[in-house]
Amino acid sequence: MKKNRVVIKVEGIVQGVGFRPFIYNLAKIHNLTGFILNSEDGVTIEVEGTEDRINKFISHIKTAPPPLAFIEDLKYEFTDFTGNYKEFKIKPSKKSKKHHTFVSPDIAICNECVKELFDKTNRRFHYFGINCINCGPRFTIIKDLPYDRENTSMETFNMCDECKNEYSDPTNRRYHSQPNCCYNCGPHISLYDNKGEKIKLKGDDEIFKYISELLLEGKIIGIKGIGGYHIVCNAEDDNVVDLLRNKKKRKRKPFAIMSKSIETIKKFCYVNKDEEALLKSKEHPIILLKWKNDTIISQNVAPGLRYLGVMLPYTGLHYLLFNYIDKNLIFTSGNISEEPIVYKDNLIFEKLGDIADYFLTYNREIVISTDDSVLMEFKGLPYMIRRSRGYTPKPIQTIETDKKILALGSQQKSTFSIYFENKIIPSQHIGDMDNYDTLQTYKTFLKHFKKLFSFEPQVIAMDMHPDYIVNKYIDEIMGNKCRIVKVQHHFAHLLSCLIDNRIKNPDEKFIGISFDGTGLGDDGNLWGGEFFIFNMKNYIRKAHFKYVPMPGGEISVKEPARMGISYLYDALGDKIYQNGFITNQLDNFELLMEIIKNRINSPLTSSVGRLFDGVSAILNICSKSDYEGEAAVLLENSITYEKHITDYYNYSVIEKDDIYIIDYKKMFLEILSDIEKNKDTETTSIKFHNTIAEIIADICKRLREKDRYKECSIIRGSISKQVSA
Ligand SMILES: [Zn+2]
Ligand SMILES: [Zn+2]
Repeated sequence: MKKNRVVIKVEGIVQGVGFRPFIYNLAKIHNLTGFILNSEDGVTIEVEGTEDRINKFISHIKTAPPPLAFIEDLKYEFTDFTGNYKEFKIKPSKKSKKHHTFVSPDIAICNECVKELFDKTNRRFHYFGINCINCGPRFTIIKDLPYDRENTSMETFNMCDECKNEYSDPTNRRYHSQPNCCYNCGPHISLYDNKGEKIKLKGDDEIFKYISELLLEGKIIGIKGIGGYHIVCNAEDDNVVDLLRNKKKRKRKPFAIMSKSIETIKKFCYVNKDEEALLKSKEHPIILLKWKNDTIISQNVAPGLRYLGVMLPYTGLHYLLFNYIDKNLIFTSGNISEEPIVYKDNLIFEKLGDIADYFLTYNREIVISTDDSVLMEFKGLPYMIRRSRGYTPKPIQTIETDKKILALGSQQKSTFSIYFENKIIPSQHIGDMDNYDTLQTYKTFLKHFKKLFSFEPQVIAMDMHPDYIVNKYIDEIMGNKCRIVKVQHHFAHLLSCLIDNRIKNPDEKFIGISFDGTGLGDDGNLWGGEFFIFNMKNYIRKAHFKYVPMPGGEISVKEPARMGISYLYDALGDKIYQNGFITNQLDNFELLMEIIKNRINSPLTSSVGRLFDGVSAILNICSKSDYEGEAAVLLENSITYEKHITDYYNYSVIEKDDIYIIDYKKMFLEILSDIEKNKDTETTSIKFHNTIAEIIADICKRLREKDRYKECSIIRGSISKQVSA
């Protein structure tokens, strides 16, 4: 059979992820000779052998690379057979000055490591820090690049001889695995009380046994994870969950749960095969799952919600914990109310000492924090709600740019992104920028990204809202030497949607629908119920929901009843005073009417987020919210999906200056009439949701048919839902 030679260049996350030993073993399997070598942009492979075997070799690389690898590009070229190679070799890497642009995210413990963890004959039996080239911490331990041990927080641990042997053996799963360690040479766990006193116990097993007893007694434990501390307690004990809510000053915002196994989760949640795959994926995110009615989990974990945020154990430490306790545990981010997750060991007693009774920690530093990622599955596809651990800093590919661009992100649920070449790397979730600590975290992350990716921006893209905290600090952060581009909030949302959908043509036109809380619009009003015709370069606002005042401004977001009154006044005018239901049910009616009528600190808004809030308040579902989006989430949760109702409320569309304005006056009058007729809340909620769907279809139809935007494509949207963690 004819022999050939091929040169293969692979780009992406291919260094420090076991790629070279993978290729080494693959070449042996296919009986190929040649070499592999780390290059500036990835790896270079040269092999010789029969054409058939070479093709199989290439297809194997493409279809089943090592778990942590991310192949961005694979090019190959056949040349003539030389017969120069006698075997397959891993050649030493050339030292390169160029920073490699890829860093692997942190990956959940792999099945092989779990097996070893519980194998009595294995030298890592019950060792919490077990990991290999295919799993374990990465992004959160890397201080700088290149990714060598001395640039990670493992630098203080010297490998023992056995670990060194694994590290230098290309056939070993731990070949060149930087975090490689074992019980003899790696980090160790310790237990402290909340005063900082070390609890003396004999060995790790005793610690885990003791913690399981504490958890059963109703104690709350701070546990060091991959990207920060979790607050952990028994999710099946109402009293403990109540206690945690009091201590965390968190009335109703849902907590996430960690469960021992998929079988355990299926006892209290519905799990389809796509959700199961996401739960077990190498990222191990929190998945929002439909909660069964009769359940062992305390109702107070996610009060009033049909969805529960659940994840599986993703480190050796988690597995060892569940080895001793047979309960589902709350695993919520270790922070006080909306502050960033605590990840520095020296801060735990000060920051979390009032919440946790004990702390389980270990002596490997977390260089940079990441929260758990949150996703949900919809029609077989994953929807990202919070992108953090397991995903950051994986790049998203898009069109080429010759600039280095930094996008600053928003005020709530903030992140930033860096953009260079054809890659966008979004930061991990940072949080709400309303407090000092979050801003400090933002600055720390940005500094880290700049160092790690040798990134110095030339252009800064920011929201046009003048009050966003990060916008104010831009000079301090960047030193005032970049070109600044201000971007309208909802245009930015729609552009992310194009990137999500891998759109590459900057001129391709779309109908964009952006429903949101609030964002500053071009006319100075607060937008949030918008229909644009747009492409990557520009947009035209073609339709929006009618403006109403937001009485008292931002406080309306926390007090949905204010919006309820605003919409009803819009619908009823002064007749509102004769409606006993409204005047009695909604708080501070008289005062709010004064504010609305005199437009005291009451900006106009077209926000659909506020519309959901208003309807939620009018239906007496939520008039004051404990967390962002609660009123809307509870309104959706009032629907059981057991009723089949296709009715919707009336509304009108007014055309003014080539813009459609959606007027919901008729809808509110009909909602009031349904309430007077004592229609059940669920029916009204369904009809309201149907109305929104009807409006979307109606406006899109008008834009496509009447306004001849027929060429506009429709693509899958991105969602943002209240985070459960
Ligand atoms: Zn592993
Ligand atoms: Zn060792």
